[in-house]
Amino acid sequence: MRVAMIGSGYVGLVSGACFADFGHVVTCVDKDAGKIDALRNGVMPIYEPGLETLVEKNVRERRLSFTTDSAEALKDADAAFIAVGTPSRRGDGHADLSYVYAAAREIAELTAGPIVVVTKSTVPVGTGDEVERILRETRPDGDYAVVSNPEFLREGAAISDFKRPDRIVVGSDDPRAREVMSELYRPLYLNQPPLLFTTRRTSELIKYAANAFLAVKITFINEIADLCEAVGADVQEVARGIGLDNRIGPKFLHAGPGYGGSCFPKDTTALVKTGQDAGAPLRIVETVVAVNEQRKRAMGRKVIAACGGSVRGKTIAVLGLTFKPNTDDMRDAPSIAVITALQDGGARVVAYDPEGVEQARAMLRDVAYAPDPYACVDGADALVIVTEWDEFRALDLGRVRGLLRQPVVVDLRNIYRPEDMRKRGFAYVGVGRGAA
Ligand code: NAD
Repeated sequence: MRVAMIGSGYVGLVSGACFADFGHVVTCVDKDAGKIDALRNGVMPIYEPGLETLVEKNVRERRLSFTTDSAEALKDADAAFIAVGTPSRRGDGHADLSYVYAAAREIAELTAGPIVVVTKSTVPVGTGDEVERILRETRPDGDYAVVSNPEFLREGAAISDFKRPDRIVVGSDDPRAREVMSELYRPLYLNQPPLLFTTRRTSELIKYAANAFLAVKITFINEIADLCEAVGADVQEVARGIGLDNRIGPKFLHAGPGYGGSCFPKDTTALVKTGQDAGAPLRIVETVVAVNEQRKRAMGRKVIAACGGSVRGKTIAVLGLTFKPNTDDMRDAPSIAVITALQDGGARVVAYDPEGVEQARAMLRDVAYAPDPYACVDGADALVIVTEWDEFRALDLGRVRGLLRQPVVVDLRNIYRPEDMRKRGFAYVGVGRGAA
């Protein structure tokens, strides 16, 4: 099959490279000429483990190419995927669909089809209807089938998630479109692919319901963590104790600084708006959004408390800036709120992150960046672990202790054991570990 991937960001680039690896011929398009130039020169515009090798292989085998020219990509394509951004709209929190609609208009201007237009971007219920309307209005004689196919990959594990998904959701009533989608995903599975066919609206909602549910789970355990601190219990053990119940499951029960990233914050907010507009408010999700928002800055206050109530004039070392490990993505990262709260309290912040510094520079002000974890903690009055990169899990703690001016460690990801840390002479604070 021939695929045009409109938008070559985290989702478009990974999906495009994986489809090419299945044997399809894929052209990835982006408006950002810098991104396309880089890709043509074998330079990845994002950090995602395994991506460079996958792209290199499929470019070499002539199944994957990059262009800024959508016409070139759409020529003879069986399917056009829309994988552009759907950020929060400024002011009201609705999803900003202008990039999706612009892509739809462009597709209709450039091809009459027959072509299957697949929305991979996360879009509110009813967006597919509007995409279809735009296509028909722009080119009434065109032959288009509009499908919803939301993406569930996680940054940092994107390639394996795309290649071995728990499920593939396809929203369309059109038999031809369903056939094309089956054929596109067929190489993933020898036997029965976990394809869930449903209506377009249901498919659109599945994506938001999934993300909102995960956000609820995270926020639930975060509030339980606060309760653990108040009553002298250990959230790690509570999480294990409830997670072993198959009805609950162990995933997404790690207490921390609140969820961030390019999806959960904007998607929960957009779902809340959809619910309100539809007269079916999602009060649980509304609460989750509010609780999570307050939590990120509260983590800054937690650090200030660990430093004796004030950080004025102190230097705080921050390890980890990205919203999770194995990505360079800084969008809505909890580190931003934590660092801002510390700076507002008069602290000087020195930070280290293995991959996120380039994006962080554009988002944070007055932060000094260290070249490695040890340079970061050197002379600091406290160390705060915000993102659980592997390289922070086995630090040389004797060295860290020697370099810190004050032995204060605030571990917002619970990667160390309180008793070990105290034995080593640290004043250690985790999340929800009231028992230790
Ligand atoms: P991104 O910002 O990394 O990439 C979007 C790309 O689209 C950008 O490179 C932009 O230049 C390009 N673009 C915008 N308009 C264009 C046009 N008309 N023609 C060509 N290119 C255009 O975004 P992302 O993180 O890849 O997310 C894309 C969508 O996928 C969003 O709706 C997001 O919610 C959803 N999603 C993201 C993830 C994730 O982990 N990042 C996971 C699942 C779903």
